[in-house]
Amino acid sequence: MWDRVERLIGKDNLTLLGEKRVGVVGLGSGGGFVAQSLAMSGVKNFVLIDDDTLEATNLVRHVADRRYLGQPKVEAVADLIIQRNPQAVVKTCYGRIEQHLDELDNLDLLIVGVDGEQVKYIINEACLERDLVAIYAGVYERGEGGDVVIIYPYDGPCYACWSAAVREEVQLVNDVGELDYGMIGPEGTIEAEPALWLHVVRVALTQADFALKFLLKETTQYSSLPTNTVILANNALEIIAGEQTPPHSALWVQVDRDPYCLVCGDQMQANTTDSQTIRAVSLQDLADETGISVENESE
Ligand SMILES: [Zn+2]
Repeated sequence: MWDRVERLIGKDNLTLLGEKRVGVVGLGSGGGFVAQSLAMSGVKNFVLIDDDTLEATNLVRHVADRRYLGQPKVEAVADLIIQRNPQAVVKTCYGRIEQHLDELDNLDLLIVGVDGEQVKYIINEACLERDLVAIYAGVYERGEGGDVVIIYPYDGPCYACWSAAVREEVQLVNDVGELDYGMIGPEGTIEAEPALWLHVVRVALTQADFALKFLLKETTQYSSLPTNTVILANNALEIIAGEQTPPHSALWVQVDRDPYCLVCGDQMQANTTDSQTIRAVSLQDLADETGISVENESE
């Protein structure tokens, strides 16, 4: 079954991928696709975390089809992984990430496929505490584009200062001339975006590829990423004010750590042994800093 992959990446590297343990939090359009793609690339050990069930509206934008209607997405995706690789070991956690933070303890990598910014901040703090590398993806309004970033704890930005920097420095101006970034709805609240499957998947496959590159980073197969962030245009976009980015292009951006970041800044880093200090930063502080409303998150 693995003959072609083995010839491509080598037997030792395939074995190495099989030994890695990858967590995926958020098993929607993006996370489900990443999990299945990694399974089809040789990753065998998964921890899947999600609190949602598959509904009719998901059928046109999810790896799971109508056979899984009403089932938790974690169970649906776990089954799809096993159908591709019966040797895979998949742990499913049906519930919110806050209920399953212990599951992050023994992972080699975390894939973040959740929609809301608030939950990304919770994941960010949990990853910093565990020195766990995480790869985040975001899809812009209507699937016009998206971005993927790999976060190495205390070696580069954390998700909080990355997010603040990207909002400040990279303006995504759509046809209406509004600043649209991520999942912020008209009322300033966070909501799932109505994007087409194919546009979400373009962002998700880049996230999966970031994951493979990271998992193979100590091998000859490794090809390094030019920067920690890529911004993908599905349609023509004005990502940086005044510059038109053609459809299907990718813009690589290096985002550096903010030494004054409320989560990972030098003050906080000096106190990393005192996790109470980090926890003392409220989500509202972060929201005030980034200008995002953290109320009424809906997935
Ligand atoms: Zn930070």
